[in-house]
Amino acid sequence: MEKLDATMRVLRPYPHVFAFYDGRIEGVRAYSSEPNWLDDGAYALGICSYAIVDGAQALVYDTHISLDHARLIRRTLEAEGVSSIRVLLSHCHDDHVAGNAVFADCEIIASAGTLAALTAHREAMENAAPPIKPLVMPSRILDGDTTLQVGRIAVEIRHVDIHSFDAAVMVLPESDLLFAGDTLEDPITYVDEPARLKIHLDDLARMGGWNVGRFLPNHGRADVIAAGGYDASFIDATRIYVEKLLALDGETATAEQDLQTFAAEIFGSGAVTYFAPYEDVHRRNVEAVIGRHSIS
Ligand SMILES: [Zn+2]
Repeated sequence: MEKLDATMRVLRPYPHVFAFYDGRIEGVRAYSSEPNWLDDGAYALGICSYAIVDGAQALVYDTHISLDHARLIRRTLEAEGVSSIRVLLSHCHDDHVAGNAVFADCEIIASAGTLAALTAHREAMENAAPPIKPLVMPSRILDGDTTLQVGRIAVEIRHVDIHSFDAAVMVLPESDLLFAGDTLEDPITYVDEPARLKIHLDDLARMGGWNVGRFLPNHGRADVIAAGGYDASFIDATRIYVEKLLALDGETATAEQDLQTFAAEIFGSGAVTYFAPYEDVHRRNVEAVIGRHSIS
């Protein structure tokens, strides 16, 4: 069987940043032709993990979608002379933690919310298709916002309640850079906690107030990531889309619109780019918000 990481690309948006990008390849699936979390939730949309590196130290931001992917990340860093690896989990979702076992001998850092969610969903994740087994749990739990030093690079880890209640984003003040996890996604956010969307809007505004210049998401365009990331209009695009979802109440005609029509404003602004596989994400988002079915 072909290894799952056969199409992974290693990008270097900055000298001290590695981006491990896979998927978003038309007609290609990595795991199975059957519906599954790896292909439908990550690979088809494009999925990117990161590492911040200085000298012999590295901080890996999410362990990617399989052990093969995680091994490639580790191999790449070790080939660069890294001998000390820590991991930070952006949040609890499967496509961000599936490679944890490859870093079982490293410190794996996460928020208390991420630990609680992984504990609650461990059995389901270990028995999913594909299974994440064993699910290696975080070994260090963040006590509020925390600054780490990766070699000479200061990394500020901040908790935000966007996309998922447990999200941890990273700010590199000296590089004017924010690693967004799934809090920002090109073209649209994935609504997994529809009841919390108003809270997500509040925290998007708070994140916008940090005045960071560049943003690197875990789901976005490889060419934009390789070129250094998105600008702050990415936050506005996310806000506008979420506001439109929240205004759907009783708006039957708008709820029927496809993504290209529904979100024409954000595509017109150039902040994000229409991508057809997100039609399914949008349909699911609309259904989640108007309550046709609930999402676990
Ligand atoms: Zn997620």
